[in-house]
Amino acid sequence: MKLRKVSAAAAAAVVLALTATACGGDGDSDSGSGSGGGDKIKIGIKYDQPGLGLKEPDGTFSGFDVDVATYVAKELGYEPNQIEFVETKSADRENALARGDVKLIAATYSITDERKEKVDFAGPYLLAHQDLLIKTDSDITEATDLNGKKLCSVTGSTSAQNVKKDFAPKANLTERGGYSECIAALQSGAVDALTTDDSILAGYAAQEQYKGKFKLAGLKLSNENYGVGVKKGDTETVNKVNAALEKMVSDGSWKKAVDANFGPANYKNEEAPKIGVIVQ
Ligand code: GLU
Repeated sequence: MKLRKVSAAAAAAVVLALTATACGGDGDSDSGSGSGGGDKIKIGIKYDQPGLGLKEPDGTFSGFDVDVATYVAKELGYEPNQIEFVETKSADRENALARGDVKLIAATYSITDERKEKVDFAGPYLLAHQDLLIKTDSDITEATDLNGKKLCSVTGSTSAQNVKKDFAPKANLTERGGYSECIAALQSGAVDALTTDDSILAGYAAQEQYKGKFKLAGLKLSNENYGVGVKKGDTETVNKVNAALEKMVSDGSWKKAVDANFGPANYKNEEAPKIGVIVQ
């Protein structure tokens, strides 16, 4: 993906239809659990991203991705108590679907051409943008300020790839397994910035323990179109998930989930994307 600063208007103007990829898969779908448990569905989410996918201390799950997953599962015939959430870290997502560990993934999973070679996507269901999280008193104001600075991102994420390829190839990039590890590094001063989607960063910045310490730089460095990942070739599930996502928007549940999960972080989300339309 070519990186540039994008205004919302420019972003909305340049759209490409998401082509259904019908090739390469075997079309098998065990329509129940990802690994054959009968009346359960396994769904991959993140465990450490407040506002998107978070495992709470009491073992329950919260966040926008969790709400999307729960809504979609219901449309596929699974009640909330039939969902088994599984942690899928950024670098594990394609393999988790290919192995059948999970049936679906709703984990801040950007739709990209590279990933579409290995998995199929329903959606998109959210448009986010890559940004930086920095200390409140940081003098970093644009991406090029990162050259020569220490930066943290997560292995297997588009965020880490974009830094290396495009906007700060001379940054000293540390890649970790999850964003919570980067937050710890930012807090300790081991790195100068954390980069990933603004939706994720806003959730961290709003955490009680970080209030007043961190801020978002406010740079729209990329377009991240979140999709629901599905095993390559499982077109039937992609179509069902797309119908569920469309319904989630039209019946007001999407907006409700946005308000409930992003409201506390004061995150200004984009409008609901159109199914099958990727903002480049
Ligand atoms: N949305 C980006 C991605 O899919 C960054 C967030 C993440 O690592 O999940 O790679």
